[in-house]
Amino acid sequence: MTLARLLYERGQRVRVFEREGETGGLCRSRTYGGFTFDIGVSHVIFSRDEAVLDFMHRVLGENREVRDRQTKIYYKGRYVKYPFENGLYDLPKEDLFFCISEFVKALINAEKGEFAPPRNFREWMEQTFGRGIAESYLIPYNEKIWKIPPEEMSAHWVEGRIPRPPVEDVIKSAIGVETEGYTHQAVFSYPRTGGIEALVKAIEEPVRKSITTGVQVTVVQRKGDGFLIRAGGKEVQADRVVSTIPLPALLPCLGEVPERVREAGLSLRSTALLSVCIGIRGGVPPYSWVYVPSPEIGLFNRVSFPSNYSPCVAPPGHSSILAEITCTKEDPVFSAPDDQIVSHVIGGLGRMGILNEPGKVVYTTVERSPYAYVVYDLGYLERIQVVREFCVGRGIDLVGRFSQFEYLNMDGVIRSAMDFVEGTG
Ligand SMILES: Cc1cc2nc3c(=O)[nH]c(=O)nc-3n(C[C@H](O)[C@H](O)[C@H](O)COP(=O)(O)OP(=O)(O)OC[C@H]3O[C@@H](n4cnc5c(N)ncnc54)[C@H](O)[C@@H]3O)c2cc1C
Repeated sequence: MTLARLLYERGQRVRVFEREGETGGLCRSRTYGGFTFDIGVSHVIFSRDEAVLDFMHRVLGENREVRDRQTKIYYKGRYVKYPFENGLYDLPKEDLFFCISEFVKALINAEKGEFAPPRNFREWMEQTFGRGIAESYLIPYNEKIWKIPPEEMSAHWVEGRIPRPPVEDVIKSAIGVETEGYTHQAVFSYPRTGGIEALVKAIEEPVRKSITTGVQVTVVQRKGDGFLIRAGGKEVQADRVVSTIPLPALLPCLGEVPERVREAGLSLRSTALLSVCIGIRGGVPPYSWVYVPSPEIGLFNRVSFPSNYSPCVAPPGHSSILAEITCTKEDPVFSAPDDQIVSHVIGGLGRMGILNEPGKVVYTTVERSPYAYVVYDLGYLERIQVVREFCVGRGIDLVGRFSQFEYLNMDGVIRSAMDFVEGTG
């Protein structure tokens, strides 16, 4: 939508084809009985990229609430401050010692140049944070979210992006002096009304007439100097095509594709996601969201409290809870009956002390997103290059999380659109 808007503002004629009955993709929201839930899971607005953040704030205008992040990690029955390395004081003493001593050992090894470059994500976590923080929190949490062991994941996407926490901060955190990590997210915003979809609606406003919903693109092929697109059974000619379709789903639209490219595309890995939306009578803890690394608590890896982002997304006297469960599309969990998933989550919330009276639940729904997270496994870099080169060779540009097949948040996707329009993407 950002891309369509920016091209339109530059005088281009744009057409957007959307498979679903409404726009928004992972950022769609739905309102039922006074509760507004983000159905591709709870989103918040933040960015290190000031131009992008300014764009998001500008389009939302007055429809915006601002919040200080109050995020926790549920660890051995305690609510530990997030990020974990800034919440060490909240840990049981023996765990605190394990985390600190291993952090110091990792630091010494790094200073002495004794680490070889990490071969995988597990080694990166151990070298950057030490075995204590890695084994207590990072590894179980990451196993839960990615659904593959971290030693089978590449480290290229975190290396250089997440620095080793400053030793002063880790010491302060261990002795109970407040410090903040991931400061670019310490304050975030959220639409006052309409859920995160309000952002998409605000972005698409000038180009709404150019959007056709309920039409799946099934063919994108070269024709003369341009392209032939088949969308919803109709054929359209275009000078240029930018795809936001997930790469594995785009390849079958391209006609003849060499076996090597087809295989590379099919073996790009991703996870699907269940968003479990629960509306309750009464209040919820004052947290923004809580990470849940332990498999014993439940299948869900994160629980958010959207009614803490804006008072307008739940009816008066009510609150909302959104739990997310990642799995693969083939996993039976993805197609398990809604009531089974809901009662599993309500049981887990009870164990966490968040929902002690299931009778307070007044609304539930389960939403399914087939594409949620890109999984950077060890073969990713090789395979993505094969697929991207092929698409570029066909003259098709790729902008978007699953079209670039990168772990991009909304700000990263908007940045890609901006760079594309400025000719630098
Ligand atoms: C669990 C989770 C939490 C997140 N939290 C945040 C957050 O807090 N903050 C943040 O900034 N970002 C967050 N993100 C990231 C954010 O959701 C994405 O960056 C963003 O939504 C990607 O937008 P997109 O347009 O690239 O892709 P999508 O939203 O996936 O949109 C792609 C669109 O293409 C359509 N489509 C697919 N195939 C076809 C076809 N053949 N024909 C026509 N249309 C088609 C789809 O229906 C969809 O509407 C989160 C993501 C997840 C999974």
